[in-house]
Amino acid sequence: MAIEITRSPAIYVPGYGPSSAKLMIVGEAPGEEEEKHRKPFVGPSGQIAADIAKQAGFDWSECYRANVFPWRPPLNDFKRIEETGHTLEEGIADLKRQIDAIKPNAILALGAVAFANLVPGKRNLNLCRGSIYHAFDGKTKVVATHHPARLLPSANIAKMLPFSTRFIMRHDFKRAWDESKTSTLELPKRHLQVAKNSLDVYRYLLEYETNTLFSADIESIRSIPVCLGLAANSYHGICIPLIDVPGKFSLPIHEKLEIFRLLAAFFRRPGLQLIGQNWKFDHDKLEPACRFVLPDPYFDTSLAFHCLFPEFPKGLNFITSICTREPYYKDELKEFDLKRDNINDLFLYNAKDVAVPFEIYEVLSKELHQAGLYDYFQQFYMPLHRLYIDMERTGFVVDETVRQRLRTKYDSLELEIQCKLDTICGFDLNVNSPKQVALALYGPNSVGKFPIRKGADEETLSQLYANHAKSQLQKDLIDNILSRRQVGKTKSTYVNFRKDYDGRCRTSFQICGTETFRGSTQLLKPPTRPRKIGLTFHNITSHSDIGADLKSMLCAPEGCVIGNADLSQAEPRIVAILSEDWELIEKFGKIDVHKESAGICFDIRPLDKAQEMGKEDPKRFIGKTAKNATNYDAGKKRLALTINTDAKKYGIPNVQVSEWLAGQMLDKLHKAYPKLRGVFHREIQKHIEKTRTLFDPFGGRRIFMGRMDHDLYKEAYAHIPQRTVITQLRQAALRIKARLGATIHFVNEHHDALAWFSPIDQFAAHAAIVREEMMKPINFSKCSLSRNYDLIIPSDVEYGFNYGAYHSERNPKGMRKFKGEIVV
Ligand code: URA
Repeated sequence: MAIEITRSPAIYVPGYGPSSAKLMIVGEAPGEEEEKHRKPFVGPSGQIAADIAKQAGFDWSECYRANVFPWRPPLNDFKRIEETGHTLEEGIADLKRQIDAIKPNAILALGAVAFANLVPGKRNLNLCRGSIYHAFDGKTKVVATHHPARLLPSANIAKMLPFSTRFIMRHDFKRAWDESKTSTLELPKRHLQVAKNSLDVYRYLLEYETNTLFSADIESIRSIPVCLGLAANSYHGICIPLIDVPGKFSLPIHEKLEIFRLLAAFFRRPGLQLIGQNWKFDHDKLEPACRFVLPDPYFDTSLAFHCLFPEFPKGLNFITSICTREPYYKDELKEFDLKRDNINDLFLYNAKDVAVPFEIYEVLSKELHQAGLYDYFQQFYMPLHRLYIDMERTGFVVDETVRQRLRTKYDSLELEIQCKLDTICGFDLNVNSPKQVALALYGPNSVGKFPIRKGADEETLSQLYANHAKSQLQKDLIDNILSRRQVGKTKSTYVNFRKDYDGRCRTSFQICGTETFRGSTQLLKPPTRPRKIGLTFHNITSHSDIGADLKSMLCAPEGCVIGNADLSQAEPRIVAILSEDWELIEKFGKIDVHKESAGICFDIRPLDKAQEMGKEDPKRFIGKTAKNATNYDAGKKRLALTINTDAKKYGIPNVQVSEWLAGQMLDKLHKAYPKLRGVFHREIQKHIEKTRTLFDPFGGRRIFMGRMDHDLYKEAYAHIPQRTVITQLRQAALRIKARLGATIHFVNEHHDALAWFSPIDQFAAHAAIVREEMMKPINFSKCSLSRNYDLIIPSDVEYGFNYGAYHSERNPKGMRKFKGEIVV
């Protein structure tokens, strides 16, 4: 018997709003609430959108609201619209009718569906949001932004956008509202010029003879710089070819020489101030590759943007969409293809790529002044450019004998662990296949017999180990899977890395890698180098035998020694000041505070007895980790996970902490240090709730844009300690460089430590200066949590001929404590 399903006819949800509206909002299709009330955007998405509109300075009810498709699709799934009995074409025709009737000046397109159906051509919403386009009618302006439903917690978690997206959407809403005031589309006008010969370059430089402020940008093909863009204002950008591009463009040799001569003179112009976007890349191409001598940059737009809005992306696309009305133009030239693309497009793109950043500079410098951050930016951000470009250029010498030894060692280790695993499992287990690992771990018929979990990643395995591994077999299985993965990764990533072309091992430093201000490192890769080269220094572990092994490959050049200085227990000291825990402050330097934390966690009585434990005692490691978690109000689950995974990572034996035990330790520590919550956390919360803003002791600002909840507070607790440490470290490095000049070469920065090369005979003098600068007092009166206190963080200096830890037999040339003289 056939069952006939009858569907009730779809309910038409017409547009709604004042017929005189100048701004029209267009969404995707109505949802449940909209269908019920027969009005678009009356449900949860509409509520969010109305809130954002209010924050952007206009009233949602003044706008006309409609949808691309006026019938609700089954389960709100736009892909199923045809099941309503209507077609997309009908929906669009209906929308067109409404646009013709209302005649808005501008449309705010919410989401990719609205954008794609309003603006012809294939465009990516993430890249094009905030840009102003013409709709299909060729006259109504369209600004697109994300769909508010993507901010709803009920949305598909993978598709859900971070809370901070609201701030971006607010900007796009405001732009659409502003555009709705006029009917014409006025985009920035630019004169983009391509120099055809040296005379064009000469004339351009003559035209701007008295200017000293220029934005500059390099375009490269396969990492080779091919042209340089210059702009002395946001209107006129010029692209200057630097070399011939085979089959595409060429200039006679005398022309090229003349262009280089003119540019060399230009870069020597007295008082020249260069503006760049991520200038470290351009600087590196112009100096060593083209041999120009450049002044340090005056203004880097990506650094300025980070200084103002550390949580936002720092790419030029995004900054352009926020600071200018220039529509997204990066699609004019993505990755230049020698075969496919016209070279003139690359040149015009280069000219635009300097004119636009000049405009961004004008906007951001005004913004920095208004925020009172201009001087801070010039003192704390811009000098970092020189610091990191030097650090990046230095690089370690690689000891190939050690590298070969490590290859052999890790090959046999890998084999040994694999054999053990295969014996346990009864088949050749590929530890990098989640499917195979799951087969070995989960279910009653597996070897592991563990309760079924979703993943087979490190975190999941550590949790299983801590909470479910009872038998030795279960423990061995997980242990060996983790070790096998670790050894494999160590070998492929850290031992078999590619050296740079001069034989050194380098890393690429991201000056503002994160919103916390901490730097991060990357491999050197296109367009910096033609392929992946070097190591990500910050990922090389400082602990365990693996860390020591890897670092022992990295050496000082002939005649030099590696120095390393760290800020001792810097973050816990800062937390104690912010907590106004003067008693604890006094204890630093007198006792080992990590041992004391261990004493509290493990009920050692009297507490002084805890000082008797060894530095390598696992209890000390647990106490230190638990206190750190308490400082930033981490939960018991996170603490157990951190202890268990870090212990494995660092090779600390016999450490296994359950969530329950972690919870007990947190309770004891909070009881022992009541000012953490009572003073520090309470005050931070107050600031965040009131202004979402924190200032560190140096005057750096961070606006917190996340959802106002416990996770946001936790992020805020960690912020001042982390940012203060890194700022102190970087300022010390700059002062040291100012005092010692080219005799010292910084080679790495790692959390709270700086590494450098000194000539052997100058090391002692350098070490004294490094310590002096690292230990400069930090005054906390300017901090959001103002404290009348000058903190001096002690600094220890180590030295070595390779970067691995000292061991009398295994690594006698490794890093060891500097006690006034170098023992060779
Ligand atoms: N989402 C839309 O796209 N349109 C509505 O009307 C409501 C939610």
